[in-house]
Amino acid sequence: MAVTIDVKADILGKNDAVAEELRNLFKEKHVFVLDLMGSPGCGKTTLLEKTMQALKDDINMAVIEGDLFTSKDADRIDRYGVPVVQINTAGGCHLDAPMIKKAIENIDLDKLDLLVIENVGNLVCPAEFDIGEQKRAVVLSITEGDDKPMKYPLMFKLASIVLLNKTDILKFCNFNLDGATEDIKTLNPGVEVLPVSCSLGDGLKPWLDWLREMVRSVK
Ligand code: MG
Ligand code: ZN
Repeated sequence: MAVTIDVKADILGKNDAVAEELRNLFKEKHVFVLDLMGSPGCGKTTLLEKTMQALKDDINMAVIEGDLFTSKDADRIDRYGVPVVQINTAGGCHLDAPMIKKAIENIDLDKLDLLVIENVGNLVCPAEFDIGEQKRAVVLSITEGDDKPMKYPLMFKLASIVLLNKTDILKFCNFNLDGATEDIKTLNPGVEVLPVSCSLGDGLKPWLDWLREMVRSVK
């Protein structure tokens, strides 16, 4: 009889061991680590730009950018004078813990308060991979449709905070803000859901307050 091995379970098992090792290291160094996820074009990098503008003078930040091929996002971060490490996955659709372990060789954790990891744009498998983060944030653009939380539940179940982005064009989109919020809270009762416009900088205060609180909580 043929022997079948569960490759997925094995890959995830190895990943989780490295993720746990990273989480212990980040705890020891008092660094708050956030995994920032969402589809391509939902506004993750724009959110990061607004976040750096608001926090970089008070909080020592660094960013890891996960992308399939280019350094376009890392170049955007670099303009703010925040240390940034690019991971190119060469077509891989998510980041994993060994990639983060390699990337942090280039970051001085002793001086750091906050590390944001912008994951590869994808609502599916980034949710399955623990990368040693303390919390997860998900950005959902209202242009993607209000059915997405129920179609990609794991992403929303494991998030601590969800930003519903691009509210500035809400009137042009057939997006039910209350319905989507309710769906997200059905999947994940404790989650914070914030309607925001990252390009205009609207509604970001609770997000920035939450990040400050998280940074304080690991000191
Ligand atoms: Mg991006
Ligand atoms: Zn993947």
